[in-house]
Parts: sequence; structure tokens; C-alpha cells
Amino acid sequence: SGSYSSVYNKPVVGKAGRVPVGIGRRRKRVVVTGGAGFVGSHLVDKLIGRGDEVIVIDNFFTGRKDNLVHLFSNPMFELIRHDVVEPILLEVDQIYHLACPASPVHYKYNPVKTIKTNVMGTLNMLGLAKRVGARFLLTSTSEVYGDPLQHPQKETYWGNVNPIGERSCYDEGKRTAETLAMDYHRGAGVEVRIARIFNTYGPRMCLDDGRVVSNFVAQAIRKQPMTVYGDGQQTRSFQYVSDLVDGLVALMEGEHIGPFNLGNPGEFTMLELSEVVKETIDPTATIEFKPNTADDPHMRKPDISKAKDLLNWEPKISLRDGLPLMVGDFRKRILNEDEGKGA
Ligand code: NAD
Ligand code: UDP
Ligand code: UDP
Repeated sequence: SGSYSSVYNKPVVGKAGRVPVGIGRRRKRVVVTGGAGFVGSHLVDKLIGRGDEVIVIDNFFTGRKDNLVHLFSNPMFELIRHDVVEPILLEVDQIYHLACPASPVHYKYNPVKTIKTNVMGTLNMLGLAKRVGARFLLTSTSEVYGDPLQHPQKETYWGNVNPIGERSCYDEGKRTAETLAMDYHRGAGVEVRIARIFNTYGPRMCLDDGRVVSNFVAQAIRKQPMTVYGDGQQTRSFQYVSDLVDGLVALMEGEHIGPFNLGNPGEFTMLELSEVVKETIDPTATIEFKPNTADDPHMRKPDISKAKDLLNWEPKISLRDGLPLMVGDFRKRILNEDEGKGA
């Protein structure tokens, strides 16, 4: 028929060796490492929702099958228990590389494993990207700026990082991962994308991962005092997870390598955060002060003009609008936990 060109009828085999689906757009096959975790599982939902075929690689260090169980019967979804420190062979179009413990409690638990995950894990995923011609996105972190001497932080800032401290396994690990990505790009022509993610919160965060938003929310629900570390004057900027996921996809699909800051510029002291949690969950909630951890950054706030200009992205959900969206999920899981204990 003359209604569409014969080009579309030809089974054009893509780089990943598969035949296109439908007319025009070939279904993408996407790997999400760390896809059983907090951010990863929300990203997988978005990719599946738009019709991609998704393979999750996860060793379940901090991730949970529960985060993905709603996809188990979906033929477009596949879950592989695998540690990214070991090589793996797959045929894919895109790799979102998230595998890495993200909360300080988890990444300090086995610091050498954290470095291996960041260095060897990233190397393996870049080797895979090189072999099959896939595009590779690294989820780096605002921690590459360390305890920043520039405020807010722009992508051009090189950071103030302690190389031998308790956080180094994570922040130096991610800095090395960024270096590897750029070297595979320059040396082997791999298409890479780098996101520097600022503190993110939402449903499916680990209940006891020690991060401040999950701690305060769980504490307020359990009627325990919220633990404020140090004097509570240190600042962070908190981004709702759906904003981050939109940013990651915009970055992957766009033409710019980055690095790009992905975060919400709204800046709060920990005492201000405790007030918002109090207003949202329980007006009678109390706080208690605890000693702060080593090398804790005093302030953090992204300059997101680069992502606004080049990715046409900016966060839409404020802290006051986002917090209530995670409370239902936290209440349900805390209730289940209590029932599990026979309480
Ligand atoms: P998370 O701990 O919920 O998820 C990490 C996932 O990676 C888990 O499912 C875990 O089991 C898996 N994993 C860890 N080591 C692995 C290994 N060696 N092999 C295979 N899987 C492994 O954390 P998250 O908050 O979802 O973070 C996801 C990514 O985003 C991380 O790379 C993190 O560094 C980055 N990031 C997150 C934030 C944030 O605020 N959430 C901020 C900056 C950067
Ligand atoms: N790798 C992998 N899957 C692949 C291709 C490579 O896990 O499909 C791993 C490989 O085992 C190696 C790393 O990625 O440890 C880097 O691969 P590359 O080919 O860049 O380097 P080389 O193998 O030459 O050292
Ligand atoms: N924090 C806090 N109470 C808690 C957990 C953390 O006051 O129960 C503080 C912590 O000292 C830091 C900030 O909250 O200043 C953010 O900590 P988090 O571990 O969430 O993330 P990161 O330090 O990686 O930004």
C-alpha cells in the first residue's frame, strides 16, 4: 500500500540485535541496575509505563522485591539477582546505572564493598555499554561537592572532599565513577550521561536507612522524638522522587552529557524540616538532639540552571506537597512491621 513507506516494513535490526516493534518507534530494552531500590523502582515504573522492556539487575543489598512485585507478571519486565561487581552479558539499548547503597548508614556498613560497587560495578556497566553500543547514565551525587565552599553548587564546582574520611568510600567512589564514564566516552566513544542527584525522598525509601526524611517521618508516625543531629542548623534541599525520575529520563533521552544537578533548590535546616514533618504528621511530635556524624556537609543546595536550560527540566513538587505523598506508604509498612512483631 502507498500509505506508508516500505522502510517501515523492513525489519531493521537495531544495535541490540532485535526487530523493531510497530511502526516508527522500536521498543527499547533498558537495564536499570539497582532497580529494586527506592529511586530505581520508581524509574522502572515510568519506563514500563511508556512501553519499554526493562531488565533490573540488583543484589538486594538495600533493595527489596516488594518494590517490584507489582511487575512480576508483566512480560516486559525481568529481574536478575546479580552483583554489578561481577561482569554480565546482556543485549540492551540503554543502561541506567543506579546500583550503589545511598544512605550513609548503608554505605559505611561495608566501605570497601561500596568502593568496589562504585568502581568495578561502574567499569563493568561501561564495558557492557561499549560492547553493545548502549547509552549509559550514571547516577552520581551532590556528595561529589563534599562540604562545599560554594553555595549554591554549580556543576563547574570541583568540590571540597575529604579523601580519607568515613564518607570517602561513597563520595570518592562516585567521583571515580564519573571519571570512568568520561574516560569511556572520550576513549571508546560510549554515549554517557551524568546526573548529580541531591537528597531525594518518597514512598519505598527504606524505613530504617538512617536518612533524615525517612527517620523523621518514621519517628513521627511511631510517636518517637525526631532525632536532630548536631545543632540542626545544617541545610539540605529535598526533592520528591517523581521529579528526579522525570529528570533522569530527560537526561537519558537528551543530547547532553552533563554533569547535571538534579535536585529541588528549596533549602531547609534540619530544624525547619522537623517542623514540616510535625505539621504534616503529628502536631504533638517532639525533637531530641543527638551528636552529628563526621564530615557532615554544613549546607547543600543545587543550582539547577543548567538542567533548566538544556533539559527543560525543573522540579514541580515542593517539600510541603511531597511529604504527605510518602506518609501513607510509611504508615502501612510500619503497621505491617508492628503486626509482624505481634504488637
Ligand atoms: P537504594 O539503596 O534504595 O537503592 C540502591 C539499589 O542498588 C538497591 O536496590 C541495592 O540493593 C542495589 N545495589 C547496591 N549495591 C549493589 C551491587 N553491588 N550490585 C547490584 N545491586 C546493588 O538507594 P537509592 O536512594 O534508590 O539510590 C539510587 C542511586 O541514586 C544510587 O546510586 C545513589 O548513589 C544515587 N543517589 C541517591 C540519592 C538519594 O537521595 N536517594 C542522592 C544522590 C544519589
Ligand atoms: N564487561 C561486562 N559485560 C560486557 C562487556 C564487558 O561485564 O558485556 C566487563 C568486563 O568484564 C570488564 C569491564 O566490563 O571487566 C570493562 O570492559 P572493557 O571491555 O572496557 O575492558 P577490558 O575487558 O578490555 O578490560
Ligand atoms: N540527620 C538528622 N537526623 C537524622 C538523620 C540525619 O539530623 O535522624 C541530618 C544529618 O546529620 C545531615 C542531614 O540530616 O546533616 C542529611 O542527612 P542524610 O543522611 O539524610 O543525607 P546526606 O548527609 O547524605 O545529605
